[in-house]
Amino acid sequence: MTTNQRQAEDENPAQNVNPAHDENPTHAENPTHADKTDLAEKSDPDDRRNDPVFVERYRAISARDARFDGQFIVGVHSTGIYCRPSCPAVTPRAENVSFYLTSAAAHEAGLRACKRCLPDAVPGSPQWNLRDDVAARSMRMIADGLVDRDGVGGLAAKLGYTPRHLGRILTNELGAGPLALARAHRAQTARLLLTGTDLPVTDVAFAAGFGSIRQFNDTVLAVYQTTPSALREVAQARLARKARHPVTAQTHNVHDTALTLRLPAREPFDAEEVFGFLAERTIAGIESGDRTHYARALRMPNGTATIDAAPNAETPGVVCDVRVSDVADLAPLVSRIRRLFDLDADARAIDIALSSDPSLVASVREHPGVRLPGSLDPDEILFRALIGQQVSVAGARTALSRLAAALGTEIETVPIGRETTGFTRLFPTAEQIARGAAEIVRGPRKRTETIVRVAERLAAGELKLDVGMSRDELNDSLLEIPGIGPWTAGYVAMRVLGSPDVLLVEDLALRNGAVRLGLPSEPRALARRGAEWAPWRSYAGMHLWRQTRA
Ligand SMILES: [Zn+2]
Repeated sequence: MTTNQRQAEDENPAQNVNPAHDENPTHAENPTHADKTDLAEKSDPDDRRNDPVFVERYRAISARDARFDGQFIVGVHSTGIYCRPSCPAVTPRAENVSFYLTSAAAHEAGLRACKRCLPDAVPGSPQWNLRDDVAARSMRMIADGLVDRDGVGGLAAKLGYTPRHLGRILTNELGAGPLALARAHRAQTARLLLTGTDLPVTDVAFAAGFGSIRQFNDTVLAVYQTTPSALREVAQARLARKARHPVTAQTHNVHDTALTLRLPAREPFDAEEVFGFLAERTIAGIESGDRTHYARALRMPNGTATIDAAPNAETPGVVCDVRVSDVADLAPLVSRIRRLFDLDADARAIDIALSSDPSLVASVREHPGVRLPGSLDPDEILFRALIGQQVSVAGARTALSRLAAALGTEIETVPIGRETTGFTRLFPTAEQIARGAAEIVRGPRKRTETIVRVAERLAAGELKLDVGMSRDELNDSLLEIPGIGPWTAGYVAMRVLGSPDVLLVEDLALRNGAVRLGLPSEPRALARRGAEWAPWRSYAGMHLWRQTRA
């Protein structure tokens, strides 16, 4: 079903996007859309010298500043390639350079990826969590595989636009329409899987979201100027020279695909804290974790997946053993794992901003690279929040473990990673919770009623949570439900949307942490004081929470 949709879209791109923006980058150059972006491609060199954004970005590439890798892309028109800002090649002359927010925009301008600096092998842009607009929400949903599953029509419907209108918005904002953005995402996933795993080449095509082998070959050729097998051979020769990772992918049975992913994080990356946060909240039977690993099974759109992640000892990022029952779930799974560990956060900018507060500077210095843990499953986060309201982390964990043991579907676990897996069930679905929670959940009757009400609405499709929602949409849909207050809505926004600027001033642990740092603990006073931490209040909150742990 989904394959047919992808193929249909593949064959008739003009039905889904503005026909003026052909997906084929070799003849899709369209200067009119680039000059409307905030990283405008400008033809007059004098204009560029007066454009502070251009000047700042040009300075960054002249300094080969790796902080900006993944935050913008450098197009070099004299050579026809695009690079990461830190590319070691000679800095191109300003008049030959354009800056883009997405690699898709570089593809649209007819550029190919630099073979030297591998511009697609860097963490993603932190902007898609920071921004709350249509462009950012689209990028989050494209990364979650929505266009590969439901086409551009599905994405547009979700955002409340016609496909044509959405195409115009994205082309204006990001320099490329939804099909081109999805295609660029598929190319990046394909590169990751070709160069970092032994997954068979034909499986890579479908795992990356391509609808056909032909489309896969054409895209790899257009973006990387080579064939998939050649891309793999070059990368493996490189790995062999370094004599490092034995990369493995095995097919366990007809349906399962297992492989090891290495996912880079933007530096600095406080891996121990984010693993610690997840470990402190592991639900018995569902997850296993400590400060050095995190493992579990989860539901994906087409089946189930198992992950076993650990901090990468050699370079900032995580190493993750994964297994999927349907290879089409691999690309969205990669995106969810990246969000779970907040790998794309602009950690240095956050640290610099928070260090300017004397109350936070010591914590930031001691733990640089703080992360905001994301989620693998939005519904699960909402239930965690509902059960965690007004109780300690340990209390919530006990209650959730009881719920999961009673209602979660049992799974057959096959150890996939370094650790023996410590999980035997999937977190219960909304339907399972709607049916069984009333008898399992203890505590105030009103809270149990809220949990059942939410489960019923989720199961009936009256309430839907996903990474593509805006902050307001999420807030409105949660706060209208009796029994849900700002704490729950804020917590879900942080975990599901990656909202960087939420301070949960009513949270008891957070207020206790504030006291330890000499900050006010009374909610209104803390909110006033915390206003200084915008737009990073969620990350400041992580520093406050940390204070209450040993
Ligand atoms: Zn380069």
